[in-house]
Amino acid sequence: MKVELQNLTKIFPSRNKKKGEPDVVAVNDFTFTIPDGKLVGLLGPSGCGKSTTLYMISGLQQPTSGRIFFGDEDVTDLSPVNRGIGLVFQNYALYPHMTVKQNILFPLQNLKGADKMTKEQMLQRAYEAARLVQIDELMDRKPSELSGGQQQRVAIARAIVKMPRVLLLDEPLSNLDARLRLQTREEIRRIQKETGITTVFVTHDQEEAMSISDLIVVMKLGVVQQVGKPQDIYDDPTNLFVAKFLGTPPINVFQGEVIGEKLYVGENAILDVKGVEDQPVTFAIRPEGFELNENGPLVCELSNVEVMGRDVSIISRHANAVSPIIRSIINADNKLDVSSTTVRYSLKPHKVFLFNAQTEERIYFN
Ligand code: ADP
Ligand code: MG
Repeated sequence: MKVELQNLTKIFPSRNKKKGEPDVVAVNDFTFTIPDGKLVGLLGPSGCGKSTTLYMISGLQQPTSGRIFFGDEDVTDLSPVNRGIGLVFQNYALYPHMTVKQNILFPLQNLKGADKMTKEQMLQRAYEAARLVQIDELMDRKPSELSGGQQQRVAIARAIVKMPRVLLLDEPLSNLDARLRLQTREEIRRIQKETGITTVFVTHDQEEAMSISDLIVVMKLGVVQQVGKPQDIYDDPTNLFVAKFLGTPPINVFQGEVIGEKLYVGENAILDVKGVEDQPVTFAIRPEGFELNENGPLVCELSNVEVMGRDVSIISRHANAVSPIIRSIINADNKLDVSSTTVRYSLKPHKVFLFNAQTEERIYFN
């Protein structure tokens, strides 16, 4: 089911206008089409409007303006129960007094009219959903007798048992420990692919979004910053915010200046940037964008080398760096003189991004 968001805006009115407390524009003019059968990651820092967007798609919140379509159907004024959605929240919110089986059956028992099912049909569907998330052996347990990961699987089974048109997941992995988080996210991906349910996955964790999504939407303060495939956004960020938000270790940010189509940091020209006018710039280098070069133009003060097996991570500093440390990732076969006080680099041009020093919007070069 294709989901179309048209100019979605959500404004929470000020609770205290007299004291000058402003309205909160939680989501600002969000237009996007979620392709049928895809998993879209809604990514951004806390408070940027991810949950509000999800709740508007679900019908739990009404947009201040804008429309929502499921396929060709305008669902903006439909209640959540009539939209055919499955919802999973961060805290699993299972019914504690019910068994796993009863929890999963619950949404089916409330179906009315033509959708009403016999007991056998309901049980069959419940077991199908349970098998999909691999909890069919736990059907007679109570939620308190399950681990966090198992509880979240039950919540997912309960959300998909009605075969929703759209599956909405709001930070579903946040309460799980690191190992389970990894395992469950792979599980969600598998289930999504097997069922082909159009899915929106909300997270503040860029790695999670990158690994699970067909498409990512990066948000900041209610405004969509960039939409694209994970790798494309990583390779081609539209502004400094997006460049900094994606990638671990994070991108390294510097102040510099373009003079005569060359990028200067301090006195040194470190890169040709054809087509860019003279101006002060902020620029950023991905950790894998550095190459050790004893005559390289970028000279940094060497602080530390962390061995990671296949790669080494070199920590250095530079007077013109905005980031407190510069971290490069270099293949461990390269030899670095660790007794030296400096480390010199040349740069891979496609791993260096230039930004307008004021607007922080991307400046492209050849
Ligand atoms: P996220 O899920 O990305 O962390 P939210 O969508 O929950 O962000 O919130 C976006 C903004 O809207 C935040 O500034 C938040 O404080 C505000 N907000 C969310 N819900 C309400 C509400 N019910 N009333 C007032 N402000 C709200
Ligand atoms: Mg949220």
